[in-house]
Amino acid sequence: MSGSSDAYVIGGSIGGLLAASALAQHFDRVLVLELDHFPANPRARHGVPQGRQVHALVSRGLEALNDLLPGFTDELVDAGVATGDLMADLQWFYEGHPLPWARIGVQMMSATRPLLEHQIRRRVGMLGNVGIVEGCLVDGLLTTQDRKRVIGVRTSGHNGIVELTGAELVIDASGRATRVPHWLAGLGFRQVPADRVQIDQSYVTRQYRRKNHDLGGRLGTVSMPFPGQPYGGCVMTEEGDRCGLMLWGMAGARLGSDDADLIAAAEQLPTGILADVVRTGAPTGTSRLMRFPVERRYRYDQTDSLPAGLIPMGDALCTISPSHAQGMTVAAVQALALRNLLKGGEADLLGRFLAESASTIDTAWQIATGNDARFLPGYDPATDHSAILRLGASRDPIVAAALLRVVQLVDPPTRLADEDILARLRDVRPARPEAPAQR
Ligand SMILES: Cc1cc2nc3c(=O)[nH]c(=O)nc-3n(C[C@H](O)[C@H](O)[C@H](O)COP(=O)(O)OP(=O)(O)OC[C@H]3O[C@@H](n4cnc5c(N)ncnc54)[C@H](O)[C@@H]3O)c2cc1C
Repeated sequence: MSGSSDAYVIGGSIGGLLAASALAQHFDRVLVLELDHFPANPRARHGVPQGRQVHALVSRGLEALNDLLPGFTDELVDAGVATGDLMADLQWFYEGHPLPWARIGVQMMSATRPLLEHQIRRRVGMLGNVGIVEGCLVDGLLTTQDRKRVIGVRTSGHNGIVELTGAELVIDASGRATRVPHWLAGLGFRQVPADRVQIDQSYVTRQYRRKNHDLGGRLGTVSMPFPGQPYGGCVMTEEGDRCGLMLWGMAGARLGSDDADLIAAAEQLPTGILADVVRTGAPTGTSRLMRFPVERRYRYDQTDSLPAGLIPMGDALCTISPSHAQGMTVAAVQALALRNLLKGGEADLLGRFLAESASTIDTAWQIATGNDARFLPGYDPATDHSAILRLGASRDPIVAAALLRVVQLVDPPTRLADEDILARLRDVRPARPEAPAQR
């Protein structure tokens, strides 16, 4: 512990709460400042619009969560969440072909996002030195007079405008709508550089009762889009004897939210399970459509014009296409890194944090943007080596396991260039699809 010390966290969602659990081991007091009011029971809320969409948590994220909040997986299971093997208990389709069955020892959990967040909030709320303030909009950063250090935040809530000072560390976990780069510019710092990829994706989710639907005897089915077929879809077991069905469209592919739209998109998929659930299932609510226009990674690592005492994390640092279900895992891995780095003191914490997080973010960013580029103008099937890998995966369980383990951030991407994998791909010749029409 470092004497009497405070840390503030902007945003009380998955990233902010996990950051708070990490900070609680180092600071005397941690205050999580969240603009929403939290529902008493697991329910989607305004500040996290993606909470209505299907969310899965995979093993690397689960491991980090259990490290930060011991026994977390058991608590989810007690709350009715199904857990299984990423490959044996889900039916995957890549390039229109089913992946073979194999057990690969990568655990996944299929819970609704509101339940996941509710359980994390319950655990973090039990930490004696963490306070969670609801209905509190943070609308600015406070610095020392020489602007070398962030020392707090300006908030507005039911007490009017309040300046909270005295922080040794402020975490920005306010998600993809973060205003922190804008506030920094307003304080006279150079614009934080950002990488952006316009992807124009849409997601629509509807929940159904699971009765009458055995989901092919597994926990769910996931069908990934591929060039020439821009729709993806999944249906996943959820707690409360429900299943969540999500469809998505790449690069502006039309996606609507009524039954006819859902069926039209589901019928494009190489499995009939999703279309069957929409046609015959009993919905438990309305369908929710969400646009995901752009992937964005703030390059705090590429500017030296920054104050000390500030760390961005989760979607506020990097927000990637949801189609590989990596965002919560990236946030959890970052929170764990933060906890471990704080053991080494607070000197150059931002630099060390960004260096430590870089490999996870690089990998997630490359997987997401690399996949998204297959649907954007300029795509050239002749140079798309990933098509060989994906097609190889549909024929060979070893290749399939390697692919899923990399995509889910368990193994590094270099695994896919190992000699044993390349040897298994030697005879794979994909039929080349037409490049998508330029929009
Ligand atoms: C359609 C879709 C499906 C997804 N599916 C998956 C999946 O299957 N698996 C997965 O791992 N990830 C998935 N993700 C990604 C995942 O939702 C995010 O990566 C994750 O929520 C990031 O957490 P976060 O805490 O950084 O940000 P957020 O969850 O966005 O939370 C930000 C919080 O900050 C609060 N806030 C914002 N501004 C302020 C302010 N000024 N003052 C105070 N509070 C503020 C908000 O109210 C909110 O509570 C999906 C995303 C989408 C869009």
